[in-house]
Amino acid sequence: MKDEQGRTSDVDPGQLIEEAGNTLKYMAGEGCSGFDCSEETLKIIDGWERKESFIDGDDLEAIRRDLGDCRRCKLCTERTKIVFGTGNPAAKLVFVGEGPGYDEDRKGEPFVGKAGQLLTKIIEAMNLTRDKVYICNIIKCRPPGNRNPAPDEIKACFPFLERQLDAIRPDFICALGTFAAQTLLDADEPISKMRGRLYDYRGMKVMPTYHPAYLLRNPEKKRDVWEDMKKLISLMTG
Ligand code: URA
Repeated sequence: MKDEQGRTSDVDPGQLIEEAGNTLKYMAGEGCSGFDCSEETLKIIDGWERKESFIDGDDLEAIRRDLGDCRRCKLCTERTKIVFGTGNPAAKLVFVGEGPGYDEDRKGEPFVGKAGQLLTKIIEAMNLTRDKVYICNIIKCRPPGNRNPAPDEIKACFPFLERQLDAIRPDFICALGTFAAQTLLDADEPISKMRGRLYDYRGMKVMPTYHPAYLLRNPEKKRDVWEDMKKLISLMTG
């Protein structure tokens, strides 16, 4: 991990911040005085953690190392494998889905089940291949029974996606489905309203479209996704 001055360190900043907060609380509980342990200070310390998302010169391997055998949320207890993301670390286009399903959890790779096979076809129809783009998810561990990810799970996991996107700095991000689009863009509009339009995510252009799993249930919507992908291709090549 590199700090903001580009110095390398083995220390996990998230852990360090948590320890600093815990130490302050413990000392205050023991009646120690002469230092500031106000709610306000603890909030500031908590805010430092978000800086994990903005590290100059960050790369995917370092992010994967920092993630480690992640125990930051309760999804760790039932997952088989962490699904970090695959593809080109210098991709111009990143696909972001919701979270791993059964097949992804077993294999440790995103979009390898039925919905994944459809995503592969979409990518190939765009004259691309899976290894030319990058594929990842909002969360990296499978929620039991494929339920929607809970807010605390997203809060724990999202900084790593932010770092991945910051390390890759793609020109375009395709947000697959309501959940990915709303989380990335901090929006609450339905995907039917957002799809096919371009949004900004910290200087990267985001195109929301329907999730391939939704297309499996509603094949008549494939036409809309193809329209969105054609727009993306012409923006990418134009
Ligand atoms: N659905 C997703 O959103 N992501 C995957 O990786 C697989 C299915």
